[in-house]
Amino acid sequence: MRYAIFGDIHANLEAFQTVLEDARTQGATDFVCLGDMVGYNADPIACLELVRDLQCPVVKGNHDEQASENTELTYFNPLAARAIQWTRDQLSPAHKDWLRALKFSRLVRNFTIVHATLDSPSSWGYIISDLDASASFSYQHTQVCFYGHTHVPRAFVRDARVTEVPPDTLIIEPGKKYFINAGSVGQPRDEDWRASYVLYSPAQQTVEWRRLEYDISTAQAKIIAAGLPERLATRLSEGR
Ligand code: ZN
Repeated sequence: MRYAIFGDIHANLEAFQTVLEDARTQGATDFVCLGDMVGYNADPIACLELVRDLQCPVVKGNHDEQASENTELTYFNPLAARAIQWTRDQLSPAHKDWLRALKFSRLVRNFTIVHATLDSPSSWGYIISDLDASASFSYQHTQVCFYGHTHVPRAFVRDARVTEVPPDTLIIEPGKKYFINAGSVGQPRDEDWRASYVLYSPAQQTVEWRRLEYDISTAQAKIIAAGLPERLATRLSEGR
């Protein structure tokens, strides 16, 4: 059994197809989605339907939430808000119902998944420091939890104290807890434009980050053609 765990796809179909293809080549047997299937890029319907058709565990992201509601977009920066408004106009009522029904966190076999944080999953806080991770660890009842939201691949380990380890191949050791960010498929923000996801093998207790080049110019051309802000296209190449 080998899980491909991915999130923050953000309507980037070229990146997502590349990830799914790589996952299958790498022998993934199961898929898990950490949320934010839509928002920012130009293919929300295709990405949502690809995830839905995998029939895999999925949690709700903040863009999934906003795209499926009709509330004011007060907590979003202007770029994100324009993309969310555009996404709302694309999605059918059935797509929105499907997004709205997603849970904020889930137990998958013996691990947990959440989009943002475990201490307050629906407030969309960002875990960027050991301190943020400590708060989330208090609510983590499994040894391993995967999350997204920051678009930066990284991992926190709780032993005697909480420390950050580099997003390399990670061995899950007994007696420790792990809070692992899979990075972003469709809009990485660690200054590396390549799509990011992880492979988790429970039998070997290994977590491996994968970074993949994809057809970024097609994704960018679609953003421009859709009339979305040009900045959303240029930021993809900058990885931020
Ligand atoms: Zn996101």
